Amino acid sequence: MEVQCPTCSAKFKVPDTVTVATCPYCGTTFHIHTGEEAKEEHYFFPPMKKDPGGVLLKFLSRQYGAPADITSAKILEKELHWVPVHFFYAHGRYRRWTTIEEVFFEGIPAGSPLASLLAGYPFPIRGKRFFDQSLVGRGRYYEPKLSKEEAEREVYDHLLNALRSEALEEDKPFESGDEVEYEIKYQGLVHYPIWKVHYEYAGENFAGYVDGTDGRVIKAEYPLMSGARKKASLLGAGLLGAGLVFGVVAAGMYGSAWGLLGGIISAGAGSYGIFRKGVVKRRTVSEVRFGGGGNIYFKPL
Ligand SMILES: [Zn+2]
Repeated sequence: MEVQCPTCSAKFKVPDTVTVATCPYCGTTFHIHTGEEAKEEHYFFPPMKKDPGGVLLKFLSRQYGAPADITSAKILEKELHWVPVHFFYAHGRYRRWTTIEEVFFEGIPAGSPLASLLAGYPFPIRGKRFFDQSLVGRGRYYEPKLSKEEAEREVYDHLLNALRSEALEEDKPFESGDEVEYEIKYQGLVHYPIWKVHYEYAGENFAGYVDGTDGRVIKAEYPLMSGARKKASLLGAGLLGAGLVFGVVAAGMYGSAWGLLGGIISAGAGSYGIFRKGVVKRRTVSEVRFGGGGNIYFKPL
């Protein structure tokens, strides 16, 4: 049957058997027959069935310079962390000549040693369930340290920043006295599963973090093969050279040394990352694109 979300008015289909639904657009959980929001405010995301160790090594095997046999690395330990996250729906509007609008869904990590790892993380909107007390015994469970109010202030700041930068892009920057309308709705506390996987390769220990709901690799370290290291530094040197050529050409065009300087600086910036990766034996990768302020999923016209 088709139902309508009481928060954002979106219409979507749910199986006829369910009585409680979560809006796929804004995350509001409500009783479909009354339209009332669900009272319980504590949720969790059910962990995936896949083995996080296998998922991590398979992802790493596809990375640049990873050893061919990394999938047979030894998994030393897999820890499941239940990270508390405050979920919000935010909607802001700024009016001047035209209307600038921002709508997003955001999760603010509220505690655990993994909170900073998950700052700006694009959490899924769908799939949360009412909290189950038996989870506390499975894995490491953390109580939230950041209050709902403190988290809400962060969301408000992100909303204001998003509106501000969009207004600037549209060439209608904020002025004092300009009014901003906004609505920030609390969607509940969610305990989110993250796996920390420790593995051993060639006698050295490495670690990686895997999203426990869908297996995305949030951040992981792997050994970089020496051949790849050499290639990486050559590529870095090549970029530096190209930047110099560009700089010389630009200097000729503008008749000053500024172009040359610019070329060197841009080449330096471009090759710096590669040089760093070129000299260390470890490389860090992520499968996730972290957002600056919230996870923007749609913009009403
Ligand atoms: Zn909704």
